[in-house]
Amino acid sequence: RAKSDISRSICFYEKDMDQRVKERRAMSADLRDAIAHGQLSVAYQVQTRVSTGETLGYEALLRWEHPQLGFISPETFIPLAEESGLILDLGEWVLRTACEDAATWTQPLTVAVNLSAVQFIHADLPKLVRDVLAETRLQPSRLELELTETAVFSDGHRARHLMEQIKQTGVKVALDDFGTGYSSLDTLVSFPFDKIKIDKSFIQEAHSNPQTIAIIRAVVALGRSLGLAVLAEGIESEEQLNMLHMEGCSEGQGYLLGRPSPLKQLVADGAITVNPPRTASSGVARAH
Ligand code: C2E
Ligand code: MG
Ligand code: MG
Ligand code: MG
Repeated sequence: RAKSDISRSICFYEKDMDQRVKERRAMSADLRDAIAHGQLSVAYQVQTRVSTGETLGYEALLRWEHPQLGFISPETFIPLAEESGLILDLGEWVLRTACEDAATWTQPLTVAVNLSAVQFIHADLPKLVRDVLAETRLQPSRLELELTETAVFSDGHRARHLMEQIKQTGVKVALDDFGTGYSSLDTLVSFPFDKIKIDKSFIQEAHSNPQTIAIIRAVVALGRSLGLAVLAEGIESEEQLNMLHMEGCSEGQGYLLGRPSPLKQLVADGAITVNPPRTASSGVARAH
């Protein structure tokens, strides 16, 4: 009896797994058409100077509105895109879109773009970055690429070479989700990063676990001694913002400072002002 219960539940389990594999496969196929069908967009989340509240730039975050399933989190579809290799196309699309957008901004704000480890290792990334900068005429110092440790972890030697080539284009490189990986200190010291982004889990645990503040303090000191900017992610409350200010963390990002929003919204709110679009094709007025 017990045995048949077990085999029945294993059977259910397998069905469940099978169903999930099917769902993932279907989602992955849909994602392939998402660019062409205009279902992808980029949301921008503000990054500010903690001491003054001044806007420094925006992080570009990919959004997918599925026609049947609605909004799907990048935490779900980015891994799918990495498995299928589609991340190379998606990543290029995000980079180009973000640079095109930022090139229209009247203020010299930075735009930060996330790179997947797959993109970092497989694509000819330095060439892509050079091409996109040339096409969009965005000043290289206004572009920042966000990498996680897994990107540099998988093949350290190649990663260092790639990163040096990328740095030669004049763009900045940030280490995202700092503190969640394994060889954090080693990675940080041996790669030419410009910025550390402290993972949001530290900021969010700080009130319940004061030892987390000791970690934040240490990272701020580390950043200072290595000459790196330090940004705290996931700031949701005034308390967190005040704590980070007291700890000398220079930059912040989080729902308190601004939610990820479409560029149109940020323009409507007056947060960003844009130059009128280039008039190369609209210069000739059409006769009615
Ligand atoms: P990330 O790069 O660490 O981005 C920060 C994430 O934290 C974003 O989630 C953002 O919406 C969220 N966030 C910002 N402020 C707060 C806050 O105050 N509280 C909380 N709880 N969350 C906050 P999102 O947009 O869902 O993206 C999740 C992850 O997906 C990103 O983490 C990044 O790893 C990945 N991702 C997003 N867009 C891209 C992309 O274009 N390319 C690649 N390769 N990955 C992307
Ligand atoms: Mg990021
Ligand atoms: Mg992060
Ligand atoms: Mg993340």
